[in-house]
Amino acid sequence: MRAVLTALNDELQRLKATGVKSIPVSEEALGALRIAATRARESVPVPRPAPQAKAPAAARAPAPRGTGPSGFPPAPEFVLPEGDKAARWAALRERVLNDPVCLRHLNPGRKVVFGVGSLDARIFFVGEAPGADEEIQGEPFVGAAGQLLNKMIAATGLRRDEVYIGNIMNWRPQLPLGAGGTQSGNRPPTQDEMTYCLPYLRAQIAIVNPDIVVALGATATQGLLGFGAFKALGDLRGQWREFSGKPLMVTYHPSYILRNPTSRSKRVIWEDFLKVMERAGMQVSAKQRGYFLDKGGF
Ligand code: URA
Repeated sequence: MRAVLTALNDELQRLKATGVKSIPVSEEALGALRIAATRARESVPVPRPAPQAKAPAAARAPAPRGTGPSGFPPAPEFVLPEGDKAARWAALRERVLNDPVCLRHLNPGRKVVFGVGSLDARIFFVGEAPGADEEIQGEPFVGAAGQLLNKMIAATGLRRDEVYIGNIMNWRPQLPLGAGGTQSGNRPPTQDEMTYCLPYLRAQIAIVNPDIVVALGATATQGLLGFGAFKALGDLRGQWREFSGKPLMVTYHPSYILRNPTSRSKRVIWEDFLKVMERAGMQVSAKQRGYFLDKGGF
């Protein structure tokens, strides 16, 4: 119960950071939440269904306990081999895909997700974590948010395979499995989870050596800059920061547009993309400058 409440709290914080100021909650739901919170505080045992005789085939392996103060395994330490970009990237990918902590946190039959794109990319996008589609395909941003990200990239005049796309997390943050043995819904990663995966993202940035890193959304920004870096993403977006020695542009996650599909919300992100294009020395046409004010866009 405590884990569910923590996940709910994380999700509310994430929504708040994206600018959501209120959400409707019925009196009934509020009452249930109060009871759950009291139970979690007082550790009143919640009645559970009788244990099954045999574990279902889709049951998860227990995640390994680590030695850190929270019990989560400490961040991995590794040295990249000598060689060209392709060799170093392939070695890193092999390491991440076989990382025991990543593997033990996977949903049954699902995949570890490593970054994709050009190793000579000038722009490196950083998302949050794989979702349902990504953990099946083993590739970041292939679901609805990914389709939209592809359109946003195309609006700059680049193709998806000309940029690099990675996530803070290499596995889909787990929630209790549903009836069919599959996970429905997503939760933002915890700080421990992000701390574990972050060295793998840093190493990808070191190999690709882009001109610019773009953080997509509040969670990615928290992962890169730290949990105390901002109160609301709206205060930070459109501004330049630094990560791993690279200029970092902070903007909203494509899912913000999926939730608010208006020209206004698209224009906000597009203005951040225009800043990225300018800093990367890309040509910006008058038409591109006017997207979502005049005609065109994604
Ligand atoms: N959202 C993300 O942040 N990353 C993905 O890979 C997919 C959706």
